[in-house]
Amino acid sequence: MDVVSPEKRLQMENKKLSREIKRLKKDNEVLRIANDQAARTQAYIQKDSTRQVFYNNQLLKTYPYLLILTDEHLETVMISDVFFRYSSAFERDEIRRGVPIRDVLAGVLPETDLSILLEKCEAALWQEPVPPYLLRAVVAGKKIDWQITIKCMMRQDGVVAGLNILFVDMTEVVNAMERAEAADKAKSNFLANMSHEIRTPMNAIVGMAEFILRDSADEVAKRHATRIKSASRTLLTIINDILDFSKIESGKMELVNDSYQLSHLIADITSMLNARLQTKPVTFKTEIDGNIPNRLYGDEVRLKQILINLLGNALKFTHGGSITLTLRHEKIDATHCRLFGTVSDTGIGIKPEDLKNIFSSFTQVDTRRNRAVEGTGLGLAICRQLIELMDGSIRVESEYGKGTTFFFDVVSAVEGWQNLSEAQMTPMERAGAAFHATFCAPEARALVVDDNEMNLEVAEGILEPYKIKIVRAVNGPEALERFAEETFDIIFMDHMMPGMDGVEAMRRIRMMKGGEEAVIVALTANALSGAAAEYKKLGFQAFLAKPIAPKSMENILRRLLPARLLQPVEETSEEHASTGVASSHAVDVLKDAIDEESALKYCMGSRTFLEKMLATFRKNEKTKQIETFFRAKDWDNYRIVVHSLKGNALTVGALKLSEHAKELEYAARDDHIDEIMEKHEPFMKEYRALLDAIEARAKS
Ligand code: ADP
Repeated sequence: MDVVSPEKRLQMENKKLSREIKRLKKDNEVLRIANDQAARTQAYIQKDSTRQVFYNNQLLKTYPYLLILTDEHLETVMISDVFFRYSSAFERDEIRRGVPIRDVLAGVLPETDLSILLEKCEAALWQEPVPPYLLRAVVAGKKIDWQITIKCMMRQDGVVAGLNILFVDMTEVVNAMERAEAADKAKSNFLANMSHEIRTPMNAIVGMAEFILRDSADEVAKRHATRIKSASRTLLTIINDILDFSKIESGKMELVNDSYQLSHLIADITSMLNARLQTKPVTFKTEIDGNIPNRLYGDEVRLKQILINLLGNALKFTHGGSITLTLRHEKIDATHCRLFGTVSDTGIGIKPEDLKNIFSSFTQVDTRRNRAVEGTGLGLAICRQLIELMDGSIRVESEYGKGTTFFFDVVSAVEGWQNLSEAQMTPMERAGAAFHATFCAPEARALVVDDNEMNLEVAEGILEPYKIKIVRAVNGPEALERFAEETFDIIFMDHMMPGMDGVEAMRRIRMMKGGEEAVIVALTANALSGAAAEYKKLGFQAFLAKPIAPKSMENILRRLLPARLLQPVEETSEEHASTGVASSHAVDVLKDAIDEESALKYCMGSRTFLEKMLATFRKNEKTKQIETFFRAKDWDNYRIVVHSLKGNALTVGALKLSEHAKELEYAARDDHIDEIMEKHEPFMKEYRALLDAIEARAKS
């Protein structure tokens, strides 16, 4: 075996060592490089996290709303600087180190609101959905409306990390909304109050006109009174439309439900429409399914209003052909049905682009063509709202120039399933016909309390046909005195009186001997806010809206007077017949010259009134005047006289004549003498022909 000399071994060891040193040197270099790299990375990370902190801080500083991030124990992690506007209880650094949000918000929110918020936070931590909600708080004496949104934050592994709670300041928006609502309410209240203020004196006007018609022997005075009554009715219709509309707008419209018979409602409407159709080449057809239950429970007046409105429109916009009302029903359950109705006409129709606006308030479409037709543009808006109150809907289909159909449905309670065909149709009073009391009560005693002399007279006048003995009181204290002196079967108590008002007077009467069972009816021109229920709640047995409708008074008397006091009276009906006959002549003779529909519109559907108006029109004829001014070329006076003829012609429905008078009036105003020369003769011929036609009708 070879033996390695010690020199050789040393040599070998040295070599090995130097290799080792070389390797170590290399490793060292690698380590150094790695170290450098690490140092650079660390510097970068340092820089980035400083950046991150900077941006986080900026975010929290500049964020416009209060934002709170919490961990899963509801302790703060981050909070936006807006917080320090509401509270100075914590330092910025302090709050970032994790403070329970209960402590953080304790000085900001009242205890109850804070508890609600914490409950919601707990729910959010359990990952239950928490919808955003509005909270009003007073912080440092200032009202704030917050919209609070609470969201759960999750880690990547799906574990709940905490909450994001955002308070958005909505104060400005809420203020603006409240201002708009208040303005809207003020507008509705104003409308309602104004309507009320107007209705009170109207009550007196209508009542007084009624008395003149009944008591006066003077024909001229009676004619004037008829005009007053007719104009007042038109005005009342408009006021009622506005009142209805403002009631609906302010959410105060309530249906007054009661038992009624559908057959009566239909008979009523049919006779009313037929009366209005007498002067028009339009037929009215009904297709009423005989299986509809007759005894319904609902708001008869409002249902009638809907039908009258739709049929009234059909009448207004149909000049030939027919108007059809259909009605059918579907049973919903043992006590309810849905009524389906249509009102269709062969009238002028509605343009497709106008159809979408038709149910909007104050909308009258196609105004160029319809300018001679009156209306407030509220009818259909009210119809739709009433129908919606009855859980129904309405829509329209129309072909311009061909006709229109309105489809509607409403839900009604059913009192008895006996159907219409089994029920006997009772013809109701015709529109415009005089009212006749159907009973009298000469033994009955009534106390009428009102501070307004005129109103007292109106109420007395309406009660007169019943031969009831009437005692007056002009204020609350006087009513109490009268009540202490004698017993009354019924008391009519005005609501609004200076000093002691009607409610107070009623309450005091209730405390007097015999007062508890006294029958007290409130009189009010303010039919707002579900008056029936309201007055019952106050302690009245019933209420009557002013102007008092004779029919409503009769219903109240029949219902509230003791039956033993009521005596029947014979009904007289000659008046109905006579007006009917005269009208058919007018149709034949004047058909071409006057638009009966417009004429009746001005005459509130009353044939009698139209006859009188035509007579007046003839009596006040202006042919001589016009000719004189024409010959004298006195264009100023010519203009004045054709202007007044323009108005008169419109009142009797002579639309064409009125239109031609207008042309001449404008020509005179603008010195277009050539035009006057050209149009004068044909105009006078037209005018004379109309006068002759009226005279011929009068003689026939
Ligand atoms: P108004 O009281 O002015 O009649 P409505 O709300 O009842 O108001 O009707 C609005 C408009 O709709 C009317 O002015 C008319 O232009 C149109 N309209 C309603 N019904 C009919 C119909 N049957 N045929 C044609 N146009 C109609």
